[in-house]
Amino acid sequence: MSRSAHPAGPRHADVLPEGHYSAPPADLNTLDAKVWAQTVTRNADGVLTVGGVDVVSLAEQHGTPAYILDEADFRGRARAWRTAFGKDADVFYAGKAFLSRAVVRWLHEEGLNLDVCSGGELATALSAGMPADRIAFHGNNKSTEEIRRAVESGVGRIVLDSFQEIVRVAHIAQSLGRRQRVQIRVTVGVEAHTHEFIATAHEDQKFGIPLAGGQAAEAVRRALQLDGLELIGIHSHIGSQIFDMSGFEVAAHRVVGLLKVIRDEHGVELPEIDLGGGLGIAYTSDDDPREPHEIAKALTEIVTRECEAARLRTPRISVEPGRAIVGPTAFTLYEVGTVKPLDGLRTYVSVDGGMSDNIRTALYDAEYSVALVSRASDAEPMLARVVGKHCESGDIVVKDAFLPSDLAPGDLVAVPATGAYCRSMASNYNHVLRPPVVVVREGESRVVVRRETEEDLLRLDVG
Ligand SMILES: *Cc1c(COP(=O)(O)O)cnc(C)c1O
Repeated sequence: MSRSAHPAGPRHADVLPEGHYSAPPADLNTLDAKVWAQTVTRNADGVLTVGGVDVVSLAEQHGTPAYILDEADFRGRARAWRTAFGKDADVFYAGKAFLSRAVVRWLHEEGLNLDVCSGGELATALSAGMPADRIAFHGNNKSTEEIRRAVESGVGRIVLDSFQEIVRVAHIAQSLGRRQRVQIRVTVGVEAHTHEFIATAHEDQKFGIPLAGGQAAEAVRRALQLDGLELIGIHSHIGSQIFDMSGFEVAAHRVVGLLKVIRDEHGVELPEIDLGGGLGIAYTSDDDPREPHEIAKALTEIVTRECEAARLRTPRISVEPGRAIVGPTAFTLYEVGTVKPLDGLRTYVSVDGGMSDNIRTALYDAEYSVALVSRASDAEPMLARVVGKHCESGDIVVKDAFLPSDLAPGDLVAVPATGAYCRSMASNYNHVLRPPVVVVREGESRVVVRRETEEDLLRLDVG
């Protein structure tokens, strides 16, 4: 998405450079509720508060950079998804978006299930008390050891991703005297309207078994023959950061088509259909996500209609939102280190983190917003680029955004909507220490994932 609106008003040059920005907002102090966690507001001093705690004291207590997560917002969103889908559907939170033991406990308490895609995620889920039968195990190359642990612990389902894996899981289950509940992940040939690198259901990619050419039907045939497996349904995940429901419509149509083939060929009606995740959130004021109840209604209607047309019993639906639950609930709090105006271009604002705590801008050209949060300012807007401290010119957190022109070292800025795919994708590039996740709730803050230390780094370096 590239917008080239040239805003009126103060700016560095007569013509602004190419970029992603819209016009500067009328008031930079106003926080757009759409992109911020639910309890975020500014107090009388102009300092941003969340969960009743102001960011200046959060920075003093926990340091920067830090991911600040609004527990009430997380629980509220999880509950909204749960309620929207009701008792005839299951909501699996996609753990890869962000997983910690606190999050697992909240999900458990709010009645959600959990997707994991590695032994590490499975261990985290089990250690926080998520019942195994509410866990789904994903991945295109699960190791034998991971499969064994998943089956042994009694996970509710394993989502099979290849012909080899069908046999592998069946053998392991059988050797353990189990019959493992499984789904088969299919690719339906839908390319979600999103960035190419995060679209995952067009056929030329590593996940799933293509419906095209009868491959998925053949996979079903094999799975049904194996004693170690109980095939409970078909899985489809079409992409990420999707706003347009038409992709799901086509996917559901094609998956139901496969259910019909299975019924006609084998006389079995598979009881479940999983439509995956990928629902979009607002990263900037230009994004307009749908509410969970609208999504639930649309998806349920699509599946019901398709099944009626195919004269099939409507299967139990499951969905796997990750970003849509956790994404909006957190922001990253940074301290400004340097402010470097480049004449005729923009002002580079360096913060104390960067691509190690948020790789999405570099990886997907993702768009974010940013605000000065340690004070209000009436200074004119300046076109800024928020960059990190890494030795890489692509180390950009927010490509184009307006910040007040009196921004100075020591100010705190926050980048909203960093709850998903930021801490979970964080790295130690340049041996920078990964930031903590601080949860705020009702005037209190607590660390749920602590900041990494140099000892943590050196402990792995055993040479
Ligand atoms: C990544 C993923 C999800 C979650 O995607 P979001 O965009 O975070 O909603 C759900 N299901 C599967 C299989 C995934 O790979």
